[in-house]
Amino acid sequence: MADRRTIEMAQRLTSLPPYLFAELDRRKAALRTKGVDIIDLGVGDPDLPTPQRILERMREEVLNPKNHRYPGYEGLREFREAASRWYEKRFGVTLDPDGEVLALIGSKEGIAHIPLAFINPGAYSLVPSPGYPVYHAGTVFAGGKSFFMPLVEERGFLPDFRQVPREVAESATLLFINYPNNPTAAVADEDFFAEVIDFARRYHIIVCHDAAYSEISYDGYAPPSFLEVEGAMEVGVEFHSLSKTYNMTGWRLGFAVGNREILAGLGKAKTNIDSGVFQAVQWAGIEALEGNQSVVEQMCATYQRRRDVMVQGLHSVGLQVNSPKATFYLWIKVPSGHDSVSFSSLVLDQAGVVVTPGNGFGEAGEGYVRVALTVPEGRLEEAVGRLQNISF
Ligand SMILES: *Cc1c(COP(=O)(O)O)cnc(C)c1O
Repeated sequence: MADRRTIEMAQRLTSLPPYLFAELDRRKAALRTKGVDIIDLGVGDPDLPTPQRILERMREEVLNPKNHRYPGYEGLREFREAASRWYEKRFGVTLDPDGEVLALIGSKEGIAHIPLAFINPGAYSLVPSPGYPVYHAGTVFAGGKSFFMPLVEERGFLPDFRQVPREVAESATLLFINYPNNPTAAVADEDFFAEVIDFARRYHIIVCHDAAYSEISYDGYAPPSFLEVEGAMEVGVEFHSLSKTYNMTGWRLGFAVGNREILAGLGKAKTNIDSGVFQAVQWAGIEALEGNQSVVEQMCATYQRRRDVMVQGLHSVGLQVNSPKATFYLWIKVPSGHDSVSFSSLVLDQAGVVVTPGNGFGEAGEGYVRVALTVPEGRLEEAVGRLQNISF
């Protein structure tokens, strides 16, 4: 055997862009060490606690020895039933808990693994840019390639399928979409979903709709499910997460719903990789889905107040931003003379405010920065105050 002096990572890792938040975390840590009071609007991790009733259910279930064994990979029957009841109630979509619902160790896990089930070497995934980085990473890990669909403001941050070259569409097996959208905070209506279904049918592409923010919305707006639209069940699946809806990011619980054969593929990949979700966590998830939903309303009201404070504040310092109908993000145009990275650096160095450069979500995110409304109102006011003192 050759004498290997260096440990080299596989190309699937080295070919990926550096994980955005790892880079940011390093710079933040460096400033913190210097004693700077950082206001972190960078990472979309809810600051509000998991609701009490969910914690109490977890406490009970963790003491039950039945929950200590290997769980079934597809999720407890009771969890899948709770997810389908929630779906019926929220979207009017009927799902069979046997085969049309699959538990996930957080939706990120399912999104990362679905390409293993459907991407052959060299096949394309159609991936939004800017977008959640996992669509691309999962595709690359499966040996595939991403074709990036730019999301531009003039089109309401919806992809334009006419711009996908025919050869690419023909060799694509997956299409990722995500509305309400991270990072642009855009929303999509049923007409757009119908267009997605047409396109997917024409080229035999599997649609993966990431609905992580379906419950974070404002001003009475209720985002639709992809599965509400005629024909969606034939072409796609939808990924849901309890992370953002119930402030459970650390618990790792989500689920995928939709087309039975697509879910069987994802399930088959998963049986070879993981062993399901800790059952106590699934029972806590049942409590989350079945219990009183007023906690979700209160949480949205909190984000809505923060949104209003921040949008007004950003306008007052001359920045261009739309007030979003959903998600806890603001997608802010960088002032002229700057790009995403130079503006983020300026704001970090001179105001101690962390924002995420838009190009970290893909090339088409250049010209924007993302702010997460996951800090208290008072801190947002402080951030605006600091921005008033710098010139850009
Ligand atoms: C947060 C997030 C997820 C992942 O959530 P999980 O905690 O893995 O369930 C998925 N998609 C988007 C767009 C997100 O922002």
